[in-house]
Amino acid sequence: MKQLKNSDENREAIAGSGLKVTKARLKVLELFRSSRRPMSATEVAKQMPGGLADQATVFRIVQSFVAKGLLKEVNLRHGHADYEIADGEDHHHLVCLKCGLVEDFSGCEAEKMMKGILKRCPSFKTVREHAFEFFGVCKACAS
Ligand SMILES: [Zn+2]
Ligand SMILES: [Zn+2]
Ligand SMILES: [Zn+2]
Repeated sequence: MKQLKNSDENREAIAGSGLKVTKARLKVLELFRSSRRPMSATEVAKQMPGGLADQATVFRIVQSFVAKGLLKEVNLRHGHADYEIADGEDHHHLVCLKCGLVEDFSGCEAEKMMKGILKRCPSFKTVREHAFEFFGVCKACAS
């Protein structure tokens, strides 16, 4: 039941963005929605059922989703871009510098910083987005 609802949501999201709904696009969006951490396009391609889409197609789908605002790119210093669903609430990532573990957290103070940022950057009228990630060492790697 729940799965059915999710796939309808994905279908609507893709159609609503102006892209044609295809099996491959649906599957890519589904994989991102069920993932609890950001993924690279290569990781997604590996999880695609055989024959549905090759790696180049998955890369193009991911790029078109980013362009349409369905996915956003995050830089976790994994040596490649990672992506995640863009419609979630504002959150950031703490990344382990040793093993690459990623944990999400919300409650960033960016909104509070906006005014001060504009004061310090007089050429700018508005701030629209922000991106920052945090890097540390996880408990498993620290012990
Ligand atoms: Zn670690
Ligand atoms: Zn995230
Ligand atoms: Zn934030």
